[in-house]
Amino acid sequence: MTFGWGVFKGMMVTLKNFVTSYACKRDNGGIFTVQYPEEREKEFENFRNFPFLVYDGTPDKVRCVACGICERECPTKCIHIEMETDAAGKPARKPAVFDIDYGLCMNCGLCEEVCPFDSIFMDCAFEVAAAERLDGLVFHKKALLKSNEYFRKVRPALASAIDQKRKAAEEKKKAQAQPPEAPKPQ
Ligand code: SF4
Ligand code: SF4
Repeated sequence: MTFGWGVFKGMMVTLKNFVTSYACKRDNGGIFTVQYPEEREKEFENFRNFPFLVYDGTPDKVRCVACGICERECPTKCIHIEMETDAAGKPARKPAVFDIDYGLCMNCGLCEEVCPFDSIFMDCAFEVAAAERLDGLVFHKKALLKSNEYFRKVRPALASAIDQKRKAAEEKKKAQAQPPEAPKPQ
């Protein structure tokens, strides 16, 4: 074998990639450097970062019932929840306080997996930075709340499956609430 043939072949591959990177579009082997932040790549649906809370319609219709399961299961203990109480002091099954320390969160997604009320999901927003460790990275309920429309936008397949599941459960509940039909006279 001629000495240097391997080097030549390697250089040809480099040259081909160099030329292709200018001649082709990005999704066809072209330049893959993105001029961020002017240009952005679309995030994949399964790309996930920090959790958020879903509400239906208006922010007071938060799905979370403050059961505390995600708080207990979170491996870094970065979730803090306090339940709302009504005028009589009874638990209102809503979070009065829901804080997540994004500085501690390790993006594992366990909170999403264990939530039985389809309330907490992983977001794909990644531009989360702050100069102040506590003031900037502890996210309170108001900042964590996002609409179901937002959820459908960032994670369409999962949001659609959850919508269908919730609709079926709602219909089943309505059907069970119907009084049984009176027996027809013989
Ligand atoms: S993603 Fe993991 S670490 Fe972050 S809040 Fe959820 S359970 Fe905790
Ligand atoms: S997000 Fe889900 S698991 Fe966590 S407290 Fe609310 S309902 Fe319970």
